[in-house]
Amino acid sequence: MPSSLESSTPAVKPYHATFRSFAPGDPNEYSIYDVIYRSPITGSLLEVRHDLDALRQHSPDYWKQLIASRAGTTQWPYGSGVWAMREWVAPDLRDENVVSMYEGNTNLFWARRLGEQIGLPDLWVKLSGNSHTGSFKDLGMTVLVSVVKQMIEDGSPVRAVAAASTGDTSAALAAYAAYAGIPAIIFLPQGKVSTAQLIQPVANGAHVLALDTDFDGCMRIVQEVTEDKSIYLANSMNSLRIEGQKTVGIEIVRQFDWEVPDWIVMPVGNLGNISALYKGLKLLMELGITDKMPRLVAAQAGRANPFYRSYLNSFKEKVIIQADPTLATAIQIGNPVSYVKAVQAIEESNGLVEQVTEHELANAAAIADRTGMYACPHTGVALAVMMKLVRRGVIPKQDRVVVISTAHGLKFTAFKVGYHEGDLPGVESQFANPPVYLPADAAIVKETIARKLDL
Ligand SMILES: *Cc1c(COP(=O)(O)O)cnc(C)c1O
Repeated sequence: MPSSLESSTPAVKPYHATFRSFAPGDPNEYSIYDVIYRSPITGSLLEVRHDLDALRQHSPDYWKQLIASRAGTTQWPYGSGVWAMREWVAPDLRDENVVSMYEGNTNLFWARRLGEQIGLPDLWVKLSGNSHTGSFKDLGMTVLVSVVKQMIEDGSPVRAVAAASTGDTSAALAAYAAYAGIPAIIFLPQGKVSTAQLIQPVANGAHVLALDTDFDGCMRIVQEVTEDKSIYLANSMNSLRIEGQKTVGIEIVRQFDWEVPDWIVMPVGNLGNISALYKGLKLLMELGITDKMPRLVAAQAGRANPFYRSYLNSFKEKVIIQADPTLATAIQIGNPVSYVKAVQAIEESNGLVEQVTEHELANAAAIADRTGMYACPHTGVALAVMMKLVRRGVIPKQDRVVVISTAHGLKFTAFKVGYHEGDLPGVESQFANPPVYLPADAAIVKETIARKLDL
């Protein structure tokens, strides 16, 4: 921290954060260092609540300068995009327990050429898959594993961390657990994750259990296994992850010099991340740093669209479905655990939910790739939804729009290969660009190039 900030700092009471029931009806506070995932009274998910009065004793300018002075530097642990906001994330975590690989600080990409093509010049893509394990799950996992480390240091019975995963959660959990030296147990739906996603936890030394079921089936099993308090549940029903994941929205606003974009579009499955996005943006308003909320768009694959269906019934009730296979494997979820939180995010941001087909998501990713991106299928879902909303005039052309790219395309090589070979089910590859196989003959090569370039 620069000394100028330190010396101008008024004395504030120590920052504090506790778990509370997300649903009303339970007035109790629970320690974030206890093994607890739901309110014992309301049965609702928990939510980390921060001491806003303490945080508000600093001015908006103080916070802005403080975070800018830390993020992206090598100051331990503040250089991390998450721990740069440590007072807003897990304030009483001790330095020695922070398990960070300098996550966050991902590039916000001006998608200039894609924006020009679709008539949306102020289009940006937050490349949050450019992260340690290749997805934005790192943001939440650094917080969860850090808290677990402190729990173990302080004598908790926890011996291992566990998660059911569609692939990216397990990769992040395995890496952060390995960095901390804590055993990790991973439950994956057999045959439903990409090779890269399967091999990441294997390489990091996690105990990988591939179950003969889908994600929702793995989720049921992991919840039973973690009833034993020695194994700590790392799924997003664990509200600690939300605290790290919420930093992505704050980081976007910071990258725009604390100006709030008009829209943020994100692919959703279990609905933890859209809830987190809202929570972070709301904190900025509560601290007087911003004065408006972007409109949040939850983008779903039509084959795994329970949230979209709930949206169509005006959120009168939660819809639970059996999700069909989709190319967007990380969001192939039929019973989203953070449903109630996500409804709040959409309603209070004047947001909306939209869905796209397999054909639309794959071609949207390909169009983006042609302008220099390398979009994973989930990012394809968000891009296709964004394009649909621009075409319909729901998103006005002059608005500033951010699409959150949630994973790195390199984790989804089979998706890319299948697209360009034209054999993805339900997809007509409009931009297939297969390699040309030629003999090593200069004349044939020249003739081919001339044809390709229209010379
Ligand atoms: C986890 C994940 C999502 C969706 O996040 P939820 O919190 O499950 O809604 C989207 N894209 C990718 C690549 C993910 O790994």
